[in-house]
Amino acid sequence: YQVERAAFDDILIRCAAAQGADVRFGHTVQAVHTDSVAPRVDVTDEAGHAYQIEARFVFDASGFGRVLPRLLNLEAPTRMPTRAALFSHVYDGLPAGAHDRNKICVATHPERRDVWFWMIPLAGGRSSVGCVAESSFLDVPENEREAMLRALIQKEPTFNRLIGDAPFLMPVRHIGGYSANVERLHGPGYALLGNAGEFLDPVFSSGVTIALRSAHLAVQTLNRQLDGEQVDWSAQYDVPLRKGIDTFRAFVERWYTGELQDIIFYPDQTPSIRRMISSVLAGYAWDESNPYVADPVRRLNALHEVCTQR
Ligand SMILES: Cc1cc2nc3c(=O)[nH]c(=O)nc-3n(C[C@H](O)[C@H](O)[C@H](O)COP(=O)(O)OP(=O)(O)OC[C@H]3O[C@@H](n4cnc5c(N)ncnc54)[C@H](O)[C@@H]3O)c2cc1C
Repeated sequence: YQVERAAFDDILIRCAAAQGADVRFGHTVQAVHTDSVAPRVDVTDEAGHAYQIEARFVFDASGFGRVLPRLLNLEAPTRMPTRAALFSHVYDGLPAGAHDRNKICVATHPERRDVWFWMIPLAGGRSSVGCVAESSFLDVPENEREAMLRALIQKEPTFNRLIGDAPFLMPVRHIGGYSANVERLHGPGYALLGNAGEFLDPVFSSGVTIALRSAHLAVQTLNRQLDGEQVDWSAQYDVPLRKGIDTFRAFVERWYTGELQDIIFYPDQTPSIRRMISSVLAGYAWDESNPYVADPVRRLNALHEVCTQR
């Protein structure tokens, strides 16, 4: 979010070169031939010339590009409603020194609890600001998006105070239908990482956490395989990765029903429970010593009951 695309590409090329890897831009993967020993990928270069790459293993880290899920028909229903986001950048009004710029601000719409806002402070006094809602709520013509995001921001008191009339520093952008899932996160000679596998929702910033966790688990599993060990990708990659995704899912679903908001805004919080919930939201969604990871659905339902008892 903080690095310009070109700068990011430059970093990627230099890191890859340092590892002796070959990075190619503008080449398109046309087909994948799965094989547990020698998977192959059909590619065309910028001039349209076709060539083939044979590898010992293929990782798909194409995010919303979802290259392998599309080519191999792995797409599965997400069980999440179709949501969208309107977003831009502003120079925010965070008072210098008085506000921790490492903190993200999240707020809900005063009338609709399923509509929420983010403000993520970036470098140089800039912030990323956005609003997430069911797609139909944000469905306006492109030339009305800016006015809509402005009106939404001004309706929420904290955001109105911090951003209010601050001009948008780039055209207001729209992204929708981003939740995605697959039947399986691996197959003969390949595995799906990050958003190329499953993406839940932007709330709680689970996306990058899950992407990094998936890469870490997949590399560990592949290393064992390349060392000659017999590995079970389901047991060593798919199941453990989905454990954390399911933890996040229980929290995300309850955010949109409003149950998690009842918990978060409950006035008489127990500090130890607050720490456990914060720990999950901070990304420790695989730490099964935390009861809200070991059994998130039952625990959250029970806690919600306590928080809403009169
Ligand atoms: C509105 C919104 C807000 C979000 N906010 C946050 C947040 O605050 N914090 C957070 O943690 N997460 C957030 N996320 C989620 C986060 O962006 C993703 O979960 C995360 O970037 C996933 O990482 P990834 O590496 O799997 O995919 P990506 O970051 O999408 O990377 C995939 C890369 O593959 C490249 N690619 C795509 N197709 C191809 C192709 N055919 N060939 C070659 N390359 C290709 C892309 O150009 C891209 O560089 C947000 C998501 C949305 C929709």
